[in-house]
Amino acid sequence: MIAAEWMAGCQLARVEALALLRDIAGLSHASLLAHPDTLLGTDAVERLQDAARRLHAGEPLAYVLGWREFYGLRFAVSPAVLVPRPETEMLVDFALQHMAPQGSARVLDLGTGSGAIALAVAHERPHAQVWAVDASKEALAVAAQNAQALLPRDRAGGAPRLVAGDWFAALPAQMPRFDIILSNPPYVATGDVHLEGLRYEPLLALVGRAGSDGLAEIRRIVAGAPGYLAAGGWLAIEHGYDQAQAVRAMLCAAGLTAVGTQPDLAGIPRMTFGQRAGESR
Ligand code: GLN
Repeated sequence: MIAAEWMAGCQLARVEALALLRDIAGLSHASLLAHPDTLLGTDAVERLQDAARRLHAGEPLAYVLGWREFYGLRFAVSPAVLVPRPETEMLVDFALQHMAPQGSARVLDLGTGSGAIALAVAHERPHAQVWAVDASKEALAVAAQNAQALLPRDRAGGAPRLVAGDWFAALPAQMPRFDIILSNPPYVATGDVHLEGLRYEPLLALVGRAGSDGLAEIRRIVAGAPGYLAAGGWLAIEHGYDQAQAVRAMLCAAGLTAVGTQPDLAGIPRMTFGQRAGESR
């Protein structure tokens, strides 16, 4: 079968068809345009059809390809981790705005999944000391693979520390405090209608452990944060479209100052932040 013929018949969105041809058949968009009559081997066609079947069934492209770009970096993903979303890049931007380019800030990412937030920060700020926590060991294995692939071995701030466990309880005792704590935690309520569209992604990353009103894990993170933030340190949390007010109230109740919310590119209030009072170092 020739490439153009497969493309015409596959009934996929154009970007998806092009991504499959590129990753599976090794055919770039440019070479497809130049040579639409390129012959696909039977093995390639079989693998393309299999991938197309998975996409038709609703599986995210990132799982079919095994990777997703985030903050300009190529992250390996598996069904053990949430697919990194473009709006989550806001948390990285926020962190970078509060970190000197050559500074050795201490940064914590809670619920790191593929490592997207933690490793993008580590990549952009080579001297930062980065910690990342996740409840899932399978997720941390994906994050470790990404850390290996994306960061230089001799990184000035050292390798990111990836630890398994329950939010702050995962950290060793007597930890020095953090300058920045970031999290894209589970924030979807048990039974939320959106879960049907997210059925390939880990429930643990979407809803959390015990089932939730959508705010339970955020509540636990905010409650713990003041005890782990350095004076002048920042907490920034991603949340659902209707949670900004509740999250701001939690941050204020936890004694954080300069509390505010930022919208994502779609205009949806998506990230709420606050600062622990005191001089930053
Ligand atoms: N942003 C995800 C969604 O598609 C939810 C991610 C999360 O719960 N952290 O709704």
